Formats: sequence, C-alpha cells, structure tokens
Amino acid sequence: MERSALFDALAAYASTRHWQYIYPVWSRRAQGLSIGINLHPNHCCNWHCVYCQVPGLQRGPSPTIDTHRLQQELTDCLNWLTLHIHHTTLTLRDYVQDIAFAGDGEPTTSPQFAEVLDMVAHLLQQRKPDDRPAKLRLITNGSQLQHAHIQHALKQLHTLEGEVWFKLDAGNDDEMLAVNDTHLPLVLHIQRLNTCCTLCATWVQTAIFSRSQHGETVTTPTLPGYMQALLPLKQKMSGILLYGIARPSQQDSRGCIQATSEKILESYAATLRTHGFRVRMFM
Ligand code: SF4
Repeated sequence: MERSALFDALAAYASTRHWQYIYPVWSRRAQGLSIGINLHPNHCCNWHCVYCQVPGLQRGPSPTIDTHRLQQELTDCLNWLTLHIHHTTLTLRDYVQDIAFAGDGEPTTSPQFAEVLDMVAHLLQQRKPDDRPAKLRLITNGSQLQHAHIQHALKQLHTLEGEVWFKLDAGNDDEMLAVNDTHLPLVLHIQRLNTCCTLCATWVQTAIFSRSQHGETVTTPTLPGYMQALLPLKQKMSGILLYGIARPSQQDSRGCIQATSEKILESYAATLRTHGFRVRMFM
C-alpha cells in the first residue's frame, strides 16, 4: 500500500472514532505520515502566532487530560496501522515518520506533559521495535524550557532517541512580539534554546513569510539578528528547518501576512548554509 493511501484510510478511520487527543496528519516537515498528540483540544496556547492554523485559537489554561482515554486512542491508532500493513513487506516504522507532541496549543504548558510522555514511552516499549513509529518528537515554542520538570522530560525524550523542533521565527524582540505575540525577549528565548540543545537533539524550526509593517512589506525573520542569535549554538543544534506558509492563517492577522517565494526561502537557506548551518527547506 502507498503511504499516502494508508494515510487517507487512517484519516477516514479516525473520523469514525472521534479521537480527542490523537490525529493522523500528513506532515511536509516530517515527510510523511505523522501521529499527532494534541494536549490542547480546547485550542488554548500561551502564544498567538500570526500564521497559526488553529481555528478559534485563544489564550487560556491547559485542559485536564484524560490520560486513560489518550492511551486508548493511541493504542487504537497503532493497532489499526499494524493490522493494515501486516500483509506488506514494510513495517510500521517504514510507514509512520513519528509520534509528535504538537496539536492546538503549546504541549509543554500542559501540567500533564511529562506524565503523557512517560505513558507513551511505556506503550511504545511494549511493542516490537518494528511496530513503533520511527521517531518520538516534541514540536514546541520553547517557552517552558526554564522549568525543571520540562528539562527532566526532555532528558527522558533524549533517552528515547527522540528529538525536539524548537520554534524561532524572529531576529529581534520586535519580531518576537509581531510574529509570536510574546513579550519574551529574544535573548531569553535563545537561552532556552541553548538549554534544549544540551538536553535533547534539537532542530530549530522557522517560518519565513512577508507581512505588512507601517505600510511596507517586510520578510521575517530579519536575517542578521536571527543569524547572530543562532551562531553560538551552531555546533549544539541539529540544524534548521525553514518553511514557508503553505496554508492560510486562521487568525485575524491573516490578511497581513503572505507566503514568500521559493526564491526567498532558498536565499535564506543559502546564506545560513554559507555560515555552516545544516538547513532543510520546505515550501
Ligand atoms: S505556538 Fe503553535 S499553537 Fe501556539 S500560537 Fe504559535 S503556531 Fe499556534
């Protein structure tokens, strides 16, 4: 079975199961089928990025997670996959790129993040290696990395050979505010990125797009500040995932931002590579 056909079939199955926390997604950055874990079905996040694709995004607290239900949903999803690929020569590991903590809010703001990570790790360890997805990932805005319990969870992710995708969309404080709607200074964000890199394999993920500002169109992040911030971490981080805006924002700002051309993305990638960064690009 083709990977895309398997994804379509799984998506159809998921829609009949009404899962609350688990969702299959075709991920262009993971380059295939990804199983998402959503710890914020209430669509609450502590940031409010201009390009965010979560409909009805709000600021607000993390909901209480029914971990038993989440475990059942993930087991259901993995068992369905195992059943539907058992007649092929490939394994689940070949078909499923990752299990990714992502969803409709920042996963690490959930007080139950570490508990859910433990539960997922335990569930995967009970399966044969070929019956597990290839990777366990955390896709994060990095805003909670100063907390000891999150650092501890990232050490656990490291022992599971997992990795982190850490959001950095800005080259200065004004862009942190304009793009991510956070007053977190860039220098503090970079300190958290540094902490993250010391705990677990970490890729920086950066959205590149154009936005209107004082009547002008600017492309963010502005490269000098972005590069200056990242250069000291070049040897510590795994690399940079650069991506354009492929789907429309679901926020009020949607009219103020535009996708950039592939040429602009390539020029960012080329400059970063010249400075020794490993870069993957996704349009
Ligand atoms: S951190 Fe993620 S979920 Fe939160 S607003 Fe930004 S893009 Fe949306």
